[in-house]
Amino acid sequence: MTPLIEARNLVRIYGTRSGLFGRTSSVRAVDGVSLAVAPGETLGIVGESGSGKSTLGRMLLGIDDAQEGAIHFEGRPMPERGSAEWRRLRAKMQLVFQDPLAALDRRLTIAAQIAEPLEIHKLLPKEHHAMRVAELMAAVGLRADQAERYPHELSGGQRQRAVIARALASRPRLLVCDEPVSALDVSIQAQVINMMRDLQEQNGIAMIFISHDLKVVRNVADRVAVMYLGRIMEEASSDVIFRSPQHPYTKALVSSIPVPGKPLRDRIILQGEPPNPASRPSGCAFHPRCPLARDICRSIAPELREIGDGRTAACHVVTGETAPVAA
Ligand code: SF4
Repeated sequence: MTPLIEARNLVRIYGTRSGLFGRTSSVRAVDGVSLAVAPGETLGIVGESGSGKSTLGRMLLGIDDAQEGAIHFEGRPMPERGSAEWRRLRAKMQLVFQDPLAALDRRLTIAAQIAEPLEIHKLLPKEHHAMRVAELMAAVGLRADQAERYPHELSGGQRQRAVIARALASRPRLLVCDEPVSALDVSIQAQVINMMRDLQEQNGIAMIFISHDLKVVRNVADRVAVMYLGRIMEEASSDVIFRSPQHPYTKALVSSIPVPGKPLRDRIILQGEPPNPASRPSGCAFHPRCPLARDICRSIAPELREIGDGRTAACHVVTGETAPVAA
């Protein structure tokens, strides 16, 4: 099946200034990432802060440029940004991000904001907007009487529902959701996630679900890519990743998920500091924290390769052939 969206070797480098004399250095926020998402599929992207997952999401939507690599959508290369064809395709991809209050305009009613994409992309005659807005509000579980409210008059969960309704207005084929429930209470998180999954199923929408919260990703994703300092470390079906993580970094992340009734004594505590994208370690970037690291890891970065079970991993030691032993 042709992927809905496919990224090939995406690279994004930022220049930063640091130190007393403002020396410039470059940060490879995304460093050669390739991925593909099928129509209707959900790819979870997980990793700690600084892993590049949000930058990757923005690149896929064309919000951030890729310095290298290519993005294909519906089997064709994305056209030049800003062109009429680019805008047409871009309307099929929408972003839902963490802070719904920041995503919404405080001066506009909820109905006006949900109708915005209909106007911008000229998707419907104006006289049909009210009906479509009412449909969208009902689909995300907002009441009709909330249409004329302003964002500050809604709860956090209701605001995120409004953001999702607006994202759905252009009938997208892809939603990129960047920590879409992290700002919500746990009980509301489950409601919003269930609502998103229902809408996805009903409309056949593909999702890229970016989150640091593996519990949430386990509930939504068909496949999972684990990122560390701009690169994918392991990718597999959600079932395979959570049942038998292989990469040492994935193992540590998965071991930290609380399981009801089970003590966290098997949790793998990572040594060292969380990643700093501005000072990337040589070789495998994970080596200063890795319990399996050996000499080769300090000098040569492992390639992402297939290791069986439909899984790819970037590790010199985890090859899928033999059980790795601690160094
Ligand atoms: Fe650990 Fe080496 Fe594998 Fe990197 S390549 S994850 S340092 S064993």
